[in-house]
Amino acid sequence: MCALPSMELSKNAVDFIDENHLNALLAGKKPDATRIREIIAKSLAKEALSVEETAELVLTDDPALIEEIFAAARELKKTVYGNRIVLFAPLYIGNDCINDCTYCAFKRSNFDAIRRTLTPEEIGQQVVALEDKGHKRLILVFGEHPKYDADFIADTVKNVYSVKSGNGEIRRVNINAAPLDIEGYKKVKEAGIGTYQIFMETYHHDTYSMMHPGNTRKGNYLYRLDGLSRAFEAGCDDVGLGVLFGLYDWRFEVLSMVRHALYLQERYNVGPHTLSFPRLRPAQGVDFNEEYFVDDEDFKRIIAILRLAVPYTGLILTAREKPELRRELMSFGVSQIDAGSRIELGGYTEAGDAQVMEREQFSLGDIRSLDEVMCELISDGYVPSFCTSCYRSGRTGEHFMEFSIPGFIKRYCTPNALLTLEEYLVDYASEETRAVGEKLIAEELAKMEDGEMKNRTLKQLEEIKDRNVRDI
Ligand code: SAM
Ligand code: SF4
Repeated sequence: MCALPSMELSKNAVDFIDENHLNALLAGKKPDATRIREIIAKSLAKEALSVEETAELVLTDDPALIEEIFAAARELKKTVYGNRIVLFAPLYIGNDCINDCTYCAFKRSNFDAIRRTLTPEEIGQQVVALEDKGHKRLILVFGEHPKYDADFIADTVKNVYSVKSGNGEIRRVNINAAPLDIEGYKKVKEAGIGTYQIFMETYHHDTYSMMHPGNTRKGNYLYRLDGLSRAFEAGCDDVGLGVLFGLYDWRFEVLSMVRHALYLQERYNVGPHTLSFPRLRPAQGVDFNEEYFVDDEDFKRIIAILRLAVPYTGLILTAREKPELRRELMSFGVSQIDAGSRIELGGYTEAGDAQVMEREQFSLGDIRSLDEVMCELISDGYVPSFCTSCYRSGRTGEHFMEFSIPGFIKRYCTPNALLTLEEYLVDYASEETRAVGEKLIAEELAKMEDGEMKNRTLKQLEEIKDRNVRDI
């Protein structure tokens, strides 16, 4: 039987977004160059910033200091994450929705939307199409509706993992769906999910009420704010936060998101795995008030400041953004991107190259194929990675492992990224991508110290090429 989750909250749930405090910080004095450099130095030493320190970065409007913030974000990206970029694709499962979020084409009052929930067979066809392109990581996206309850989400996850095509398989399934109750999170965890993402959309209380009108589930601010705390209490320690930029003042949202990350860290000893920062896109049946739209320059500041504020948290940049801007923003500290994305229901087999407004939640800015994106990334010196090794070997808190164990990235992440890249090059790449990819792998191998790890990597690369060994 399908049912909405109970409205139960986590233990001692509180609304930790103190608007008076955040507004007071934003009304503060602009910091001088010395102070900004002190904060940057703290971040470059890989220490997380406080909300107060983040506010000082946000208040900076001197172009020269903003440049220093950008340079520091690029530096931190290099020293913490190296040149790996994780790739994934979204898979929309169903767009029925009981909510009425003003910004979304799936809102219940959009009667022109074509409503659809993929059947298990149709999901299988989408997964085969994604596997045939080379994808290994997916994020499943759902509207909020009693039919998309925890059992349904868990069954869908199991279905996705079971689909195998050629050398293809999905090795990690993340979720972007409505908040669940504790029982619900336990069920989806048991099905083997990776990250559970819930975007707060806006942390500003009045704006939140305006954007989520009527007596809807999503209209309950505390229930949503507390959503990921319940996930932790159910044993899901891999969660993602997000803000939909363009609904309210970006400065307030950045501070609030950092507050949320610190709150989870303090309370559960684990911060979020990822932060997402989607910007509003045109959507069917949606009229926007442009007052808080974020332009490209401020968007760069958002990403650079978040990079500095939470050095060890992954940053996700989606295909909502245009290719040229994505290319530039990559260096600011982004660690994950989607590629070859289609967000219309059934879009991986049915839509061709056209975007179909009535079937989409919003329109995408980057609809290039996975192979085109791979080719560009590799040509820019990034190592696209499909690695899911930590997660599959039961090392949860994957992200934590990477950074907490000295040398872990060098010993495991870099070789695994090269191996999964080789799998892609052998199984799926165009000639052009294969050529630049093999060159990049050779360059990366040349950078590795001689020794056991390098020898093992060389052997495994040969196995992938010659003996068709997969699933590193
Ligand atoms: N229905 C669930 C929910 O709202 O939590 C799952 C997520 S919804 C399908 C995915 C995300 O898309 C939302 O959290 C929101 O941030 C984003 N979104 C909605 N409308 C958008 C728009 N017009 N432009 C860009 N992103 C949008
Ligand atoms: Fe429904 Fe999510 Fe869209 Fe809101 S954002 S209308 S909850 S699908």
